[in-house]
Amino acid sequence: MSEYFHSVRLTPERCKGCVNCIKRCPTEAIRIRGGKAKITEARCIDCGECIRRCANRAKTAVTDSLDDLKDYKYNVALPAPALYSQFSADVPANVVLCALMHLGFDEVFEVALGAEIVSDATVEYLKRRDAKKPAISSACPAVVRLVQVKFPELIDNLIPLEAPVEVAARLVRSTRCRELGIAPEDIGVWFITPCPAKMTAFKQPLGAEKSSVTGAIGISQIYGELLKAVAVVPRDANCQRATARGVGWALSGGETSAAAAGNSMVIDEIHNVSEVLEQVALGKIKVDFIEALACSGGCIGGPLTVENRFVAEHRMHQRLAKMRAEDEAHGAAPAKYHPDSSLTEYDRTIEPRPIMRLDEDIFKAMYKVEQMEKTLNKLPGLDCGSCGSPNCKALAEDIVQGEAVETDCIFKLRERVRDLAQEMVGLAAKLPPSLEEREEN
Ligand code: SF4
Ligand code: SF4
Repeated sequence: MSEYFHSVRLTPERCKGCVNCIKRCPTEAIRIRGGKAKITEARCIDCGECIRRCANRAKTAVTDSLDDLKDYKYNVALPAPALYSQFSADVPANVVLCALMHLGFDEVFEVALGAEIVSDATVEYLKRRDAKKPAISSACPAVVRLVQVKFPELIDNLIPLEAPVEVAARLVRSTRCRELGIAPEDIGVWFITPCPAKMTAFKQPLGAEKSSVTGAIGISQIYGELLKAVAVVPRDANCQRATARGVGWALSGGETSAAAAGNSMVIDEIHNVSEVLEQVALGKIKVDFIEALACSGGCIGGPLTVENRFVAEHRMHQRLAKMRAEDEAHGAAPAKYHPDSSLTEYDRTIEPRPIMRLDEDIFKAMYKVEQMEKTLNKLPGLDCGSCGSPNCKALAEDIVQGEAVETDCIFKLRERVRDLAQEMVGLAAKLPPSLEEREEN
């Protein structure tokens, strides 16, 4: 069995080997070999970028389904704040949440409530003298994994706080077990997710031994059913408790404003995050707090959402403006900071997974770096991807690691064919010595 769980999977029968995905993967986890894509599991961070890029739908996210609810006595839906952005601002948040109950959940508990608690915990963390700056938010699991595999030197900069969904799950699970007298294993706690990265985070958590979330159901998977339910849910339904402070986490910048982080930086889209983290690793960025999100615009742009990211963003701004006015009118207060650290803090440290290393043995690694440079110098430097590796540097690495050969490069292959052809012409002109005319001396 594989050491890694991944929500993002390849359906080889659908893959046409078009190389679209290999060039966009932020960790260079994909290669095309034998005409099909192949994902290197140790490198994949489940960002879902390849799902977005694959026109043949060969990359998909494995999530749970509503059928899985039947295995539990009591089921709780944890809707991501991004879910609200998938509906027009005229549909009250209450109605969206109560529509989830129509799909078979016994209760809806907003992840935005967890976000409110984590916002306060972040404020407290940033005040700590031992907080390593810039402190990087751990809310996006794809970013946490990116740090783990590509920037292991920044692991101590990650804020050791659980993501809002985990906090919400811990809270609702423990409270309902007590109140309803149900065994923990009989409660199903389901995240309604905008991304595959969260699914992976529950199945293989980093900051804790076990997640309190049972599983994840993609927004896109239930959207059709939700739309139908929204049409029949009474408009005065009452499921919502979170305030704009928590719901705003759906957008990039929402966490920073909820935590009122002063000297901070907000980055979204995984390649932008990777570029900025490179600068952080070089000590070039002097800020206290970094909010980094893998998806463009934040979770509203997650690969498992249905609405166009810009439409969703616009709707979210409209909804938040309404919510702020309502919060103020009703004197609604965000969920209180929980001094119980077991609710919000990691209970183990994240270990690096440095997959960019060429060899465990430092001397062998140095030798391979030298070989890689020599090989790279011989390649054309066009980064065309036709060889099945994302760029010439990656092909040079693959050659040194014995996973590819120089003639996988079409230009090197052409060179080789030309040389062979010339050699053959030369050979064809050559006669055996017995037939050669000899110059008489
Ligand atoms: S999910 Fe992200 S990291 Fe994994 S193979 Fe796809 S693009 Fe690469
Ligand atoms: S930005 Fe949000 S939706 Fe995208 S991968 Fe991170 S947590 Fe998931």
